[in-house]
Amino acid sequence: MYDVIIIGAGSSGSVLANRLSEDPNRTVLLIEAGPDYVEPKTLPFELINSHRNALKDHDWGLDYAPTQSQQSKLPRGKVTGGSSAVNTTIALRGLPEDYNAWAQAGNPGWEWESVLPHFKRLERDLDYGDNDDHGDAGPISIRRYPKSEMTEVHQAFLADADTLGYPECHDANAPQSTGAGPQPMNKLGRLRISCAIGYLAPARFRPNLTVLASTSVSRLLFEKKRCIGAEITSNEGTLRQVFAKLNIVSAGALLTPTLLMRSGLGPPDMLNAFGIETIESEPFVGQNLCDHPAISVVCLAKPGCNIDHDAPIIQTILRYTTERAEHRNNMQIEQLSYAGAPTGPARFAIAACLEYQYGRGSLQLTGPHAKDLPLISNHFCEDQRDLRALVEGLKDTLAFTQQPALRGMIDSISFPDPNRGSKDSDLAGLIQRFAGSGYHPCGTVKMGPKEDPSAVVGSSGELHRCDGLVVADASIMPQVPRANTNLTAIMIGEKISQDINRHPSHFGL
Ligand SMILES: Cc1cc2nc3c(=O)[nH]c(=O)nc-3n(C[C@H](O)[C@H](O)[C@H](O)COP(=O)(O)OP(=O)(O)OC[C@H]3O[C@@H](n4cnc5c(N)ncnc54)[C@H](O)[C@@H]3O)c2cc1C
Repeated sequence: MYDVIIIGAGSSGSVLANRLSEDPNRTVLLIEAGPDYVEPKTLPFELINSHRNALKDHDWGLDYAPTQSQQSKLPRGKVTGGSSAVNTTIALRGLPEDYNAWAQAGNPGWEWESVLPHFKRLERDLDYGDNDDHGDAGPISIRRYPKSEMTEVHQAFLADADTLGYPECHDANAPQSTGAGPQPMNKLGRLRISCAIGYLAPARFRPNLTVLASTSVSRLLFEKKRCIGAEITSNEGTLRQVFAKLNIVSAGALLTPTLLMRSGLGPPDMLNAFGIETIESEPFVGQNLCDHPAISVVCLAKPGCNIDHDAPIIQTILRYTTERAEHRNNMQIEQLSYAGAPTGPARFAIAACLEYQYGRGSLQLTGPHAKDLPLISNHFCEDQRDLRALVEGLKDTLAFTQQPALRGMIDSISFPDPNRGSKDSDLAGLIQRFAGSGYHPCGTVKMGPKEDPSAVVGSSGELHRCDGLVVADASIMPQVPRANTNLTAIMIGEKISQDINRHPSHFGL
């Protein structure tokens, strides 16, 4: 019997494990399906190397359908640190308007002024230190590449952004920022500062925190409508039950709703189809799937250009507003240092990423067991507003290939095929076939007031219709912020830990 069980040691779960075990009188059990590397010298190189995503040995192997005509792989980290341990280390905050919209939708405490202290608390900003916008003492180190450390393509990208008239922006995390500049990144040299490094490492030797890795939660256990614990299976196949006063699910936006459904919280028809007893009808678990649809322009580099597959893949960012868009900074353009396989022709890419998304996807159960991974359908750009904005974004991305610095490096454009037409309708057709995930799924266990039928959890992640259970991860975001989602997932861990630490009796502690 523990005070708290946390399921999933990812971006949010690692934060909760650290903050909730600060009280030595509280026992905390953190359960993670993937491995845990306790000794720094045993950390595999793919997890150290932030220059590229770690997609090989610590991945869940999920498939998804970004658009109706595609089936592809959607990576998610399976290791302590979760997706923060495998990601690109872009450390970007959403816009103040994103969090203000969450608050206005009936989630008090999530407005910008309230979440800013959490963003400051999580970071050690090595460029700005402690000031009104930044913190200098948090677990996650953040820094921006100076121009002298940028690869040739990133320098060219910034030069061309200037030619195209985009404003220069040195701090993309300043609240009113817009324009082109260095990307804030949570890395030191090559080392990825994951939440396992930032948050778990300093807490893991506390006697009141137990980390149970290589152990999967197969289902949550209930007494009537109170969650009392979890059924867990070790990698060796041993099945047992663990119990707690408070159970927190932080398994990520794809696997949290899957676990809830497998445990009897989901659409009754879907549960019945797999013989799962319904604990509470929750038709919106697995709905409201948000993300950042993206599409890349791929360029064949001229002979002699230095395209290095061992260089940092991302160093810069352009945040801006497309023509006729209703929302500020609805688009990001990302320069990528290289594209394709290292053994193939020298290529690089420039990606347009839609940051303000109107459309929604959903996920479904495929079976009652932990091994049954969900069916994920994003329906990217079926909403005409998303399609129009991404067409603009793709045209703006193609404009970069015509500017002096990048044009000087491009032999030809491999995608989109320049001979296949560049009218808006041609580009829209390509987007509807080839748009892919920005790897930022969220929103599938939506936070909102009880009166909102689509809201599953309240403003501290507590389930509206069950006791003893909190969801704290990217699933609860009501809408994807206009930024890569890692920092927001960490902020969610910080905010919900603070709610629990301030009002333990509200959470049964
Ligand atoms: C390849 C890649 C690149 C990305 N790049 C960036 C980037 O550069 N910047 C950025 O901001 N965002 C990026 N993201 C997105 C960002 O990392 C995620 O939004 C964020 O990590 C989500 O945090 P989370 O806590 O919701 O889930 P996760 O961090 O995914 O954590 C979920 C954890 O739960 C565990 N788990 C799941 N099911 C179970 C179970 N049944 N039992 C036990 N444990 C379980 C998982 O193994 C995992 O450790 C990237 C993501 C990926 C995959």
